[in-house]
Amino acid sequence: MLCPKCKSYMKTIEYKGVEIDRCTRCYGLWFDSFELEDIKQLSGSEVIDIGDMELGQEHDQKTKIFCPKCRTLMMPARDEQQAHIRYERCPDCQGVYLDAGEFRDFKQLTIPEFFKSIFKRD
Ligand SMILES: [Zn+2]
Ligand SMILES: [Zn+2]
Repeated sequence: MLCPKCKSYMKTIEYKGVEIDRCTRCYGLWFDSFELEDIKQLSGSEVIDIGDMELGQEHDQKTKIFCPKCRTLMMPARDEQQAHIRYERCPDCQGVYLDAGEFRDFKQLTIPEFFKSIFKRD
């Protein structure tokens, strides 16, 4: 599988039984449907995200990408709890692509975000 952002080879890695694909060049991460939620629950799983956050932020600007699995145009999405985290989701196979550093960020609720999630009112 090729990275949808930099077109380099993505290598399958495993963390506690969950398989993820990681780009060998930009270290962007690919999660098949629901894998992201699964792996987010596992403690210490941020070790899979070894990439450079600055490069990740640069790649974050590139939002028009095609799903590496089914070639569908991916849709930009935001995390519900952490609205600053933008990622891309495939509307077809539900796969998710995170730029380097985003998963680490994803795992770590900042204090204001934590309070916002508790005191959330509509
Ligand atoms: Zn890449
Ligand atoms: Zn897809």
